[in-house]
Amino acid sequence: MPGKPSQEKQVEMGAVENGAGEDLGGLTAEELRQGQEAALALEDMMALSAQTLVQAEVDELYQHVRPLGQGRFGRVLLVTHRQKGTAFALKKLPKASTTLRGFLYEFCVGLSLGSHSAIVAAYGIGVESVDSYSFLTEPVLHGDLIAFIQPKVGLLQPAAQRCAAQLASALEHIHSRGLVYRDLKPENVLVCDPACRWVKLTDFGHTRPRGTLLRLVGPPIPYTAPELCGPPPLPEGLPIQPALDAWALGVLLFCLLTGYFPWDQPLAEADPFYEDYVIWQASGQPQARPQPWLGLTPVADALLWGLLDPHPRRRSPVSSIRGYLGRPWRQRAGEAEEAPQGEKGDPE
Ligand code: ADP
Ligand code: MG
Repeated sequence: MPGKPSQEKQVEMGAVENGAGEDLGGLTAEELRQGQEAALALEDMMALSAQTLVQAEVDELYQHVRPLGQGRFGRVLLVTHRQKGTAFALKKLPKASTTLRGFLYEFCVGLSLGSHSAIVAAYGIGVESVDSYSFLTEPVLHGDLIAFIQPKVGLLQPAAQRCAAQLASALEHIHSRGLVYRDLKPENVLVCDPACRWVKLTDFGHTRPRGTLLRLVGPPIPYTAPELCGPPPLPEGLPIQPALDAWALGVLLFCLLTGYFPWDQPLAEADPFYEDYVIWQASGQPQARPQPWLGLTPVADALLWGLLDPHPRRRSPVSSIRGYLGRPWRQRAGEAEEAPQGEKGDPE
């Protein structure tokens, strides 16, 4: 939750240089340096932002128009500036569940990402009120992706590919800044138009510098990578890596193409859907596909096998999506799957 970052540590440089990096998820010295630089830059930004927080009640400054959404931690409201009339999305985090540090962290991560067409724009305005902390972002008015994913269908293929390309680009940008997003799911993907042509990633409450040691892991959800599902507690902590986002992107893509999750949790002992997948993926034989994967093409298999490789060091990066765009990912209803790769038409 927001409010925890103060207790987190990073892998120390010595641990990587003496070869322990192999045991710590394959972190190279360069990757570690990137994460440490990101952590230091964030600390500076947080210290500066703490001094510039506006002390006021939100209602004094902004007119409430309507709620935009509610997450686990924050309520997001559409507001307008009382003098200028400018519209903003205002994320309000109650002090009861958010520390100042947790708030500053989320606020500054959003700011530090700068402008990217698939990341919600942050304004450098933070407000401290008696009971809450708030910050402002651009309002995105067509809701989040969850409302666009039709159960058992997903999205139309062109929309799924556009979404995939934009989200991969947003995640690549985040990774290039030495950060790992860690919360990819449809609720955090905002839709900018009714045809779902443009999407933007939001909610940086879980984003952390690469190499931050993760000790506490919540109960697994379908998006959780298997390396986080080992027997708790993780011995010395798992260094956070972009491979966590690649896994979540693979699961999200599967949902966009099918309208359901591939499994409940990536634990072969506990989830037969995951067990079947692991056996199939290791076989490298698209024909023997498990039932939930029947509607996909060998092109989609190859993409998802890479993103959903159970071994984080072998997992493809989010950028791998680029090589698969414009090719069919979903089979036409009733068609056999043995047709050669790339010869099937677009189902939509
Ligand atoms: P939490 O950290 O509690 O999950 P989020 O930042 O994800 O909070 O916001 C909760 C919900 O509010 C989102 O799932 C989305 O539906 C909506 N929302 C968030 N930011 C915006 C925005 N800038 N424009 C429109 N809706 C938003
Ligand atoms: Mg959220």
